[in-house]
Amino acid sequence: MDSAGRKKRIGERVDARAKALDRLAVEIHARPELAFEERFAAGALSDYLASEGVSVQRGAGGLETAFVAEAGSGGPVIAILGEYDALPGIGHGCGHNLMGTAAVGAFLALRDALDGVRGRVRVVGCPAEERGNGKVHLMNAGVFDDVDAAIMYHPGDRDEIDPLMLAMVNLDVELLGKAAHAAAEPHDGVNALDGLVLGWNAISALRLLVRSDSRIHGIITDGGKAANIIPDHAAARLMVRSPDNTYLADLRRRVLACFEGAALATGAEMRPMWSDVCEVVKTNRPIAEAFAENARSLGRTMQPRRPSDTHGSTDMGNVTTAVPGIHPFLSITEGPVPGHSLAFTEAARAPRALETMRVAAKVLAMTAFDVLSEPALLKRAKEAHADRAA
Ligand SMILES: [Zn+2]
Repeated sequence: MDSAGRKKRIGERVDARAKALDRLAVEIHARPELAFEERFAAGALSDYLASEGVSVQRGAGGLETAFVAEAGSGGPVIAILGEYDALPGIGHGCGHNLMGTAAVGAFLALRDALDGVRGRVRVVGCPAEERGNGKVHLMNAGVFDDVDAAIMYHPGDRDEIDPLMLAMVNLDVELLGKAAHAAAEPHDGVNALDGLVLGWNAISALRLLVRSDSRIHGIITDGGKAANIIPDHAAARLMVRSPDNTYLADLRRRVLACFEGAALATGAEMRPMWSDVCEVVKTNRPIAEAFAENARSLGRTMQPRRPSDTHGSTDMGNVTTAVPGIHPFLSITEGPVPGHSLAFTEAARAPRALETMRVAAKVLAMTAFDVLSEPALLKRAKEAHADRAA
């Protein structure tokens, strides 16, 4: 069978599973689960793979809600990644209910069309993208050690081949003071909340001077226990982002200085904890071109990045730093709808979203097929990756 015939078969194998994939995406949407708690989603996707005769490694990489399965033999390994965690308060406002399903649909369709091709396709169910850097845990556990390329898609409101996904680091900061009766003996207290708010205001001032492509934002997670007690503990969670690693390091230093100054001013002790370091997504051009070509064959025209657009950050940045990879967006909406909104949550279960999820499954499988069946493409992808790393 020639390449066109294989790709036609891939499309048919996704269409044959359309009902099951749609049902999974809607069921996962109806039961949103936060990072590392995606038991229903990971279980449902793994069960579906098992029902198709696939041997699934559940709890892959030591993460309860991760899974891995593989098809094919010998040759290079391409990983197709899917996410399925939700956001606090707004459910699937990032559309991840459409990502694990697309990855599983792509994996099964390619398995059905792979005979005679040397190479393996691995589907990786990735927990905890919204928080917790699930993919980094999987990388550290060796899930990507033998992977030659890693591909996935993300639902959005535009078809975009090379979205800007910023480098990011999470900061949990605590201020520790001394509790006292707020009316009787305030002079005995050290006010942790005042320390935190001073630091917060210093960051607000800093933000006026920050480069327009970089971000600092957050929430206060603890502001004390009672209005008549001087708070001995206050805490905040912030995220610091930039497309530029050097500048991000500088911002980290300056954010920390805001809280150091506040701690000095109030006499509180400051404890910072940095976590979830995300790298910038490095779109691999040869693989992205193959993805765009396959998308075009199904009537979707991938657009270049617009200078003003950013899409937040993702642990896929770390994966694309380690191996050639892509993280394009495919639109699930009729017009602009911001991500991480209730409107996007609504859109993520609508017919257009499900249709896009099936298109994504096809395009991912076709692109994975290209990578496995065209040694020259994989060679160019590896060269582009090495050039970028240098
Ligand atoms: Zn997302």
